[in-house]
Amino acid sequence: GEHRKVALVTGANKGIGRGAAAQLAAAGMTVLVGARDPRRGEEAAAALREAGGDVHAVALDVTDAASVRAAAKQVEERFGRLDVLINNAGISGSGKVAPDQAHDQVPSTVDLDMVRRVFETNVFGVIAVTNAMLPLLRRSPEPRVVNVSSHAASMTIFSDPAGPMTALPPSAAYSPSKSALNALTVQYANELGKDGVLVNAAAPGFVATDANDHTGVLTVEEGAAVLVRLATLGADGPTGGFFGAEGPIPW
Ligand code: NDP
Repeated sequence: GEHRKVALVTGANKGIGRGAAAQLAAAGMTVLVGARDPRRGEEAAAALREAGGDVHAVALDVTDAASVRAAAKQVEERFGRLDVLINNAGISGSGKVAPDQAHDQVPSTVDLDMVRRVFETNVFGVIAVTNAMLPLLRRSPEPRVVNVSSHAASMTIFSDPAGPMTALPPSAAYSPSKSALNALTVQYANELGKDGVLVNAAAPGFVATDANDHTGVLTVEEGAAVLVRLATLGADGPTGGFFGAEGPIPW
């Protein structure tokens, strides 16, 4: 029969993840809305079905090993494979604040437990979910993994004294977590390239979501576009890269 691609987006009950889920569904994929709160996951999936998509909720807390295992089992039993994984779930660590207000991440005074929490979700959660889903991704003819990073991951941009990011307070949590995610993206890409799995990092830009109390300047549709582009790369597409809407971003 018709091969409808199956995509899982983590943290898709709201924000950029939900925007990506909507676009993948509109492109004809079966979309699994990962959400740590099953009720809010079901609500988002129902709304996307209303809009005409083949969308289903999957309970998934990326920091909970049992939840990750159960989600992989559910995907296996229901679909038998996975074509696209978007590792979108992420936290700023500072609650709902504009980035220029997040002074609680300044390296010399940061709360180490906050750093641990941010890495647990933004870095270790990505390893856990990716590894749980890889056996299913390997059954896809064109497996794609997209890690949702940030311009704040770029050490090149941050070390430019005239660059835009130096206006922000230094961060020992969120920015380094996304730099580590970028580093992992390259390592996964190197390992999985021979198997045809394309793994890339995406920076959505400054998007109005709960994460920044809606101070962002882009819509979730605009921010999600680069995630969707990397999720739908052809066989000749890049792997181990870092991209925004503007193109490649320096590491
Ligand atoms: P939101 O806060 O709107 O959405 C984050 C999503 O991640 C929510 O669905 C949230 O679930 C989920 N999530 C958080 N922790 C977990 C967890 N442990 N398990 C499963 N899901 C979890 O933020 P954004 O949409 O803005 O962020 C999405 C991604 O984009 C993040 O990785 C972020 O770092 C990145 N990003 C965002 C930018 C922006 O300007 N907004 C800029 C650059 C990068 P819940 O609703 O339960 O909290």
